Amino acid sequence: SSKSIPSATMDLNSPPVEMFFFPFVGGGHQIPMIDIARVFASHGAKATVITTPKHSLSFQTSIHRDQESGLPISIHALELSDNVDIADTDMSANAHTDTSMLHEPLQNLLLERKPDCIVHDVFHRWSADAIDSAGIPRITFNGNGCFAHCVRENMERYKPHEKVTSDLEPFIVPGLPDGIELTTSQLPFLGRPPNGGGLHKRMPGSDEKSFGVMVNSFYELETAYVDSFRNEIGKRAWLVGPVSLCNRNVEDKAERGQKTSVNEQTILSWLDSKELDSVLYVSFGSLARLAPEQILEIAHGLEASNHPFIWVIGKILKSTGQNGESKENLLPSGLEDRIKESRRGLIIRGWAPQLLILEHPAVGGFVTHCGWNSTLEGVSAGLPMVTWPITAEQFTNEKLITDVLKIGVKVGSMHWMSPRTESWVSVGRDRVEAAVKRLMGSGEEAAEMRRRAEKLGVKAKIAVEEGGSSCKNADALIQELKSRRQSRDFA
Ligand code: UDP
Repeated sequence: SSKSIPSATMDLNSPPVEMFFFPFVGGGHQIPMIDIARVFASHGAKATVITTPKHSLSFQTSIHRDQESGLPISIHALELSDNVDIADTDMSANAHTDTSMLHEPLQNLLLERKPDCIVHDVFHRWSADAIDSAGIPRITFNGNGCFAHCVRENMERYKPHEKVTSDLEPFIVPGLPDGIELTTSQLPFLGRPPNGGGLHKRMPGSDEKSFGVMVNSFYELETAYVDSFRNEIGKRAWLVGPVSLCNRNVEDKAERGQKTSVNEQTILSWLDSKELDSVLYVSFGSLARLAPEQILEIAHGLEASNHPFIWVIGKILKSTGQNGESKENLLPSGLEDRIKESRRGLIIRGWAPQLLILEHPAVGGFVTHCGWNSTLEGVSAGLPMVTWPITAEQFTNEKLITDVLKIGVKVGSMHWMSPRTESWVSVGRDRVEAAVKRLMGSGEEAAEMRRRAEKLGVKAKIAVEEGGSSCKNADALIQELKSRRQSRDFA
């Protein structure tokens, strides 16, 4: 079974390798790190997730289930002075959230337990120094894939944006295996306020002294980019994904990230009533806040496309109306009633059980904001996508999906927006309708994208199974940590 510990990593004569995992405190970064810890536990490492009391609540049940099935995994909640915890548990923490209050408790824990290594999220900006001074080998995690890394590096090296005359004039990023075209308007790090730029800048000091980089991806997905990433950083890159595939039972899938805001049975039986590959799943990730006017355009576009859909309206941008009242009622009730009555669409307000939905056979396409986790989850489910990037490195991920893997249709999003400050209508209803029809239609282009996506989905699953590339990488890291320990013990 998936939970049995591979014999290659079991050595009864020596205690298991002890690995710590220190996730960041928000959805898109915390979710994959928890999965990474579970992956290593299933490979026989003694895994400990380091978190705060409040943040442990969102994933403790899945860890308990793993423990009950015999996996060597546990949670260590750091003690906080005055019981002040970080941000909310509603995934509202972002890259700028200050977590330095965890510095001392983490350092004390490391000195006391001396694990063989710690995998830490680079958004804990202070953590590299704290870990280095405790003398523990560390592996960094920044949540991105290798493709995004290569694009960013070559942008910084060649500065192709300096040769164009307007924000919307396309340029090719030099030095990459494929002709990747971007515009300045799609980038956060050029001529933008430091808030936006900070997201893409390298975390100072976080990589130089690290033992390597942990990547949620798999070799077969972005082979040429993995190779050049490895050459360039001159460090080990441990690709162990797609890590979402470690969620094998319904409970793990339904509760991943947060408890879902809807009864998953309601969703599943709605999906059961639909034809194979007919439903579109629409989601903008854990943080996206769209303007009410943008939501309206999506609603009209989806309705006009005539394909059934599940639409996760996540956090809603509260805009204050003329009289000072808050406008949260986004969809005109006539429209929402029509959608409900026709049973054409299911609207989820809040948190959706994304993995369960994506893998349902009735789901045939994914409108995604191209967050790296969602991208990989779409790939793992073998789904073609409509790409609608908004912020972070999502515009780069879009190019991987559409121009390299050729499993997606761009909706035509052109403007990078800071999730904290901007939100406006960037894509009108006509574009939504057109992209959905292209993806879900019966034409040869759509059929080919679907075939390619299905093939990739198979490769993703093979990568994490016994003998697959990601599975081997996880084993190899454990072996390496073991031999490092032995040489240290005998030194
Ligand atoms: N997610 C989910 N339900 C939701 C919204 C998001 O399960 O309603 C999960 C999704 O499966 C993914 C993560 O949250 O694993 C979002 O990460 P991603 O990198 O796609 O985007 P971000 O939220 O970081 O923008």
